[in-house]
Amino acid sequence: MDPNLIVYMGGEYVPLSEAKVSVLDHGLLYGDGAFEGIRMYNGRVFKLKEHIRRLLDCAKVLMLDIPLSQEELEQVVCETCRKNQLRDGYIRLVVTRGVGDLGLSPTKCPTPYVFCIAATISLYPEEMYKTGIPVITAQQRRNNPTILDPQIKSLNYLNNILAKIEANHAGAQEAIMLAQNGVVAECTADNIFIVRDGVIYTPPIYCGALDGITRQTVIDLARGAGYTLLEQEFTLFNVYSADECFLTGTGAECVPVCSADRRTIGTGNCGPVTAHILELYRHYVRANGTEIY
Ligand code: PMP
Repeated sequence: MDPNLIVYMGGEYVPLSEAKVSVLDHGLLYGDGAFEGIRMYNGRVFKLKEHIRRLLDCAKVLMLDIPLSQEELEQVVCETCRKNQLRDGYIRLVVTRGVGDLGLSPTKCPTPYVFCIAATISLYPEEMYKTGIPVITAQQRRNNPTILDPQIKSLNYLNNILAKIEANHAGAQEAIMLAQNGVVAECTADNIFIVRDGVIYTPPIYCGALDGITRQTVIDLARGAGYTLLEQEFTLFNVYSADECFLTGTGAECVPVCSADRRTIGTGNCGPVTAHILELYRHYVRANGTEIY
């Protein structure tokens, strides 16, 4: 990480070396908080309003009173990018429960804490957008929405991290995570799509997935381009036998999957529908977003 980075920390812009949170912050002690990962392309913050809205929704569910308004949060994101003179980058906006005591009760944490980091991101190598990435299915099931709803983009990512460790050990880039009933939910940091006979499918959010902003963008772009896109439950059978499979996320964009649990998907390369969606996505992100300069 560039040591000259300027970070927004609870109202101030400070150098990275001074960007520190308290050991009594419940974001650290209990994973109590929420965050957003946002991209900036070509001097524009992509889907800024949608990201801030999702953060505010999560904060509401967590009964976390963010000390900044929607507009102020948007300003923090833009200003952090400007301070670092970024045109393309990855932004991490975090709200923690703030400083409390060693008990878990949020009532002891009077003020939530907001910080924002804007830096560059190392994506999957460009080659993988042509060859695709191998994925495995994790033993670890995705959190059941009746216990901890995956729609909450919380600071507790252990469910995803345990699945990611399985992927790492298998030499795979990502892991498919199933819901309790065995249907496909999503991946550790990406939503999942499959293509069969020209029709695109993605699991409904209620299966236990984050309501991904890239997912929604891809749904809109695909439908706009004339594809039939269905939000419909499916199982691993449908993934293995799909013509194409791809994953979406702010970091990953729209990355093809070449194999799942060692079954080759389609031709084993990036299929034509995935290539088309990726092209539409990359074109769209560069031309849309909140201009910051
Ligand atoms: N699922 C999970 C679990 C995620 O953490 C993410 C974000 N990386 C996504 C899906 C994709 O969401 P988005 O398109 O909003 O980045």
